[in-house]
Amino acid sequence: MIDLRSDTVTLPSAGMRDTMAKAEVGDDVYGEDPTVNRLQDYAAELLGKEAGLFVPTGTMANLAAFMAQANPGETVILSRQAHPFHYEGANIAMFGGLLTRTVAGKLGIMSPEDVEAEVLQVDDPHFSHTTLVSIENTVNRGSGACYTPAQVAAIGHVCKRHGMRLHCDGARLFNAAVAQGVEARELVAPCDTVSFCLSKGLGAPAGSLLVGDRATIKRAHKLRKMLGGGMRQAGVLAAAGLYALENHVAGLAEDHRRARVFRERLEANGVTFAMPSPTNMVYIAVDDPLSITAALYEAGVQVLPHDVHEIRAVFHRDITDDDLETAVAACRRVLVNAA
Ligand SMILES: *Cc1c(COP(=O)(O)O)cnc(C)c1O
Repeated sequence: MIDLRSDTVTLPSAGMRDTMAKAEVGDDVYGEDPTVNRLQDYAAELLGKEAGLFVPTGTMANLAAFMAQANPGETVILSRQAHPFHYEGANIAMFGGLLTRTVAGKLGIMSPEDVEAEVLQVDDPHFSHTTLVSIENTVNRGSGACYTPAQVAAIGHVCKRHGMRLHCDGARLFNAAVAQGVEARELVAPCDTVSFCLSKGLGAPAGSLLVGDRATIKRAHKLRKMLGGGMRQAGVLAAAGLYALENHVAGLAEDHRRARVFRERLEANGVTFAMPSPTNMVYIAVDDPLSITAALYEAGVQVLPHDVHEIRAVFHRDITDDDLETAVAACRRVLVNAA
């Protein structure tokens, strides 16, 4: 079975498992896990921020970031495609007490004008004030679309002008950096907080990081405990994260190359794609995502049905060039026959 449902399906590599087995650990709720501490410092340094926090999931990283920077009753501005708007079960409403103002944007990328148009800070008891903006890089529902450093900087200026905080949901931040040949820290320089996932293309079994200024990370640390994310000998997982950051970032370029080749081969057969594919994911336009997904499964390829007229395939470090060829052949049989 060739599993293209998501880059979350990646398995820990042999080197990673070896590092995990040898990790020095302690009780992280007491702040005594040296490997967690090392990962948090490493991540903060890597992204040019003061402090880092290791959390179990990207969802918790985003939620803690939102709750640490916006009070209940306030409003967050984000794209209509944003993961925290679509896929996090209304947690920011339920636990954060936050209202959202969503921007249509293009492929989930908001322009500074889009953001500015949603700013609401009138001194009138009718209104909830916008105090936080959240961008996503790369955009999951935008087929891996990337913000450039200049686009992030422009949104950063809008936030500064209106005294709003800026969060980056960088679940796939390193895909955005590798695809553009820029440093990840450059992509997030204007952001107050940044979350990223170790458990996706980077190949760790679990874990995400939240980085930002010391005061915000301190609030997020308390929120992590309140949300049930205080882990004990989490150094076993943190070791996997450190290994991923040190060894698996450059390989993301290979995932991007395979996604591109996959797309080009199928386009040559008349298969159409719903959106551009600048990083590791492709969204194929189909009439009936459920039946196509089932047919591909029969042909040995797993994909995700998405919305009404798309299926998603994601390339990741456990997909080889041979797998790529097999997947192309299976998709040709299923998709070209179905057309
Ligand atoms: C996967 C993802 C998350 C959430 O991460 P989990 O670890 O699955 O909770 C958040 N944002 C984006 C853009 C994602 O792709």
